[in-house]
Amino acid sequence: MVVEDERKLRDVVASYLERAGYRPLQAAGGAEAWNLLTRQPVDLVILDLLLPDMAGEELCRRIRAHMSIPILMLTAKSGEMDRVNGLSLGADDYLTKPFSPRELVARVRAILRRVSTDELLADTVTFRDGELVIDDGRKEVYRSGKRIPLTPFEYRLLLTLARRPDRPFTREELIARIGGFDYEGDERTIDQHVKNLRQKIEPDPKKPTYVVTVFGVGYKFAPDRPGE
Ligand code: CA
Repeated sequence: MVVEDERKLRDVVASYLERAGYRPLQAAGGAEAWNLLTRQPVDLVILDLLLPDMAGEELCRRIRAHMSIPILMLTAKSGEMDRVNGLSLGADDYLTKPFSPRELVARVRAILRRVSTDELLADTVTFRDGELVIDDGRKEVYRSGKRIPLTPFEYRLLLTLARRPDRPFTREELIARIGGFDYEGDERTIDQHVKNLRQKIEPDPKKPTYVVTVFGVGYKFAPDRPGE
């Protein structure tokens, strides 16, 4: 779904996506986009930051709180700060205007490939030559062949992060995804859960290499050994 109020740009993006084999929906504003999102399945949202009726950030937050649809953000602003802000809102990728439509299609393809790989993740996911194994069929985690007892929250935290390797999650987002709507915790309680999880799964909890801190954003799961 292409969310952009500038009709010409929206049309260009949509036609490039069509030529690449996608079936783009179009929305001229945040309300229209949200309306469409709640009515039909959408695989990816291309979201302009500057919309007439709602800030793109606000729509991004709303999507993140309720859905796991990947988001590619478009913005007129450039710079590292904006990038961090965009990612901290939960966007999967970020493109600064003006951009080439080809580049956009390439990004879309990359995000969708990543997501479908994640979904293909079998019941059992293995990292670092079997050092860490998550068996989602049994809801069990093993490190170097030894079963590690995790609380249900820790398990969901690990699974949420590990299913999207290298993608930073904000605390808010983790709460929305793991705790559900009735979770009463403070965002900082996520830090405590992360600390506990690290004690259990990290070879050296003081120097975590699996669940790593992304400064200014939150946490991400690093699938590879550092240096790999
Ligand atoms: Ca705009």
